[in-house]
Amino acid sequence: MKIVVLLKEVPDPNAVRYDPRLGDLVPGIQRVANEYDLYALEAALRLREQVGGEVIVASVGTARDALNRALAMGADRAVNLEGDGLPGDAWTTARALVAWLQREQPDVIWCGQETSDSGTGNVGPAVAAQLDLPLVSNVVGWEFRDGVFEIEREIEDGHQFQEVAPPVVLCALSALPQPRLPTLRGIMDARRKPVEHLTAADLGLSDEALQPLVQWEGLSQPVAKAAGVVVQDVPPDEAVERLLTFLESRGLLG
Ligand SMILES: Cc1cc2nc3c(=O)[nH]c(=O)nc-3n(C[C@H](O)[C@H](O)[C@H](O)COP(=O)(O)OP(=O)(O)OC[C@H]3O[C@@H](n4cnc5c(N)ncnc54)[C@H](O)[C@@H]3O)c2cc1C
Repeated sequence: MKIVVLLKEVPDPNAVRYDPRLGDLVPGIQRVANEYDLYALEAALRLREQVGGEVIVASVGTARDALNRALAMGADRAVNLEGDGLPGDAWTTARALVAWLQREQPDVIWCGQETSDSGTGNVGPAVAAQLDLPLVSNVVGWEFRDGVFEIEREIEDGHQFQEVAPPVVLCALSALPQPRLPTLRGIMDARRKPVEHLTAADLGLSDEALQPLVQWEGLSQPVAKAAGVVVQDVPPDEAVERLLTFLESRGLLG
């Protein structure tokens, strides 16, 4: 079976800091593999252990450390799509991945439900839409039996069970089995595994195809709200007094 994992490298969520002078994130923050994508990779490695085949990890944009980790965990090979116009927006990122996926023709595409930085949750559905494939989101359990996936997915008020045959896009949540840690042997082997670097031009993508549908204007930090006032454990008339004083001080009394 040919199993692909879409893996994004993101700023380490525990280290992200915003610099209001730059109007952007503090540069040089440690970058890591997106958490949900590691759960997707673990699922892909277990599927390969069950049915054989290969696991390929694919990233758009800067992703050297994340791809190295994935190869050290056990992926067979990697592809990094980068260069002018990439990553663009979620739709453009999906277009680049789809141009490569159309060459690879995988049986299964695992991805994360969303990323910890932009977090639109759009790339998985955009890839499925552009490839005209079924997609199952919020995957928290799966079994592959007799050529069919039996999927358990999280919904608002419980879990839902679905059956779907490959080719399919599956979006992982962190309720799936814990990602394995790379072994020393895995880290050594990763150095010899192939990492293919492709540009948008290599994929035959025109500048027009790379036009983002959503243009980023800028990044800002939410304004910290003034702390509220809590009135408790005081007699009612004193509570009313305090409330009136509070409303008056803010010009809220006519
Ligand atoms: C320099 C730069 C410029 C940007 N400019 C814009 C812009 O103008 N407009 C805009 O809307 N966004 C912009 N972005 C954000 C970028 O478009 C998104 O980060 C990217 O498209 C992924 O979207 P997401 O993080 O919301 O992914 P989600 O949809 O939340 O990700 C879902 C899953 O899709 C897969 N996936 C997502 N991204 C990738 C990837 N890069 N490689 C492989 N798999 C992936 C992963 O499995 C992930 O878990 C920019 C980002 C950068 C770094």
